Amino acid sequence: MFSATETDSEAELTTEQTVTHERWMREALRVARDARSAGEVPVGTCVVDGDQLLAAAGNRTRTDCDPTAHAEIVSLREASQKAGNYRLANATVYSTIEPCAMCAGALIQARVKLLVYGATDEKAGAVESHFHICAAHQLNHRIKVIKGVLEPECRELMQEFFKERRC
Ligand SMILES: [Zn+2]
Repeated sequence: MFSATETDSEAELTTEQTVTHERWMREALRVARDARSAGEVPVGTCVVDGDQLLAAAGNRTRTDCDPTAHAEIVSLREASQKAGNYRLANATVYSTIEPCAMCAGALIQARVKLLVYGATDEKAGAVESHFHICAAHQLNHRIKVIKGVLEPECRELMQEFFKERRC
C-alpha cells in the first residue's frame, strides 16, 4: 500500500486518488523508458497542476552533458516556463525514483505541494533514505510525500538498466 511521510497525512488514499497517481506515474514511466532508449539512466518525472500536465522529462545528463540535467530538474524548468512562474505552489511532481539531494532541494525551491515517487533509492535518495529534505524543518517549505506508486515497474526499469550495463 502507498504510504505518506507526514504524520498528519497517513490516511490511505481513496480509489480516485490512487487512479490519478497511477495515471501520472505511467506518464513518468513513459519518459523514463524514452530516457533509457537514449542511453540515459531511466528516471522519469512529470509535473502536474490540477488536471494539466505542465512537463514530462527523463534524465538528460549524458545527452546535454550536464550533471544537473536530472529528470526532476529538466521537468521543473519546463513546467516553470509553461506556467510563467518560478514557483509551482499547486504542482504535484511524479518521479519514478526517490529524488536525490539536488532534486529534492529543487522541489523545495519550486515550492511544490506534493511529491509522488515510485521506487526508493537507497543509495542517493534524499527524501526517505537520507537527509529527509522534503520534511526538514531547517528549510522554509515542506512537501507532502507519497511513495510506492507503481513501485515494481519503477524499480524493475532501473534494475534492468544496471543489469544490462554490467553485461
Ligand atoms: Zn536528482
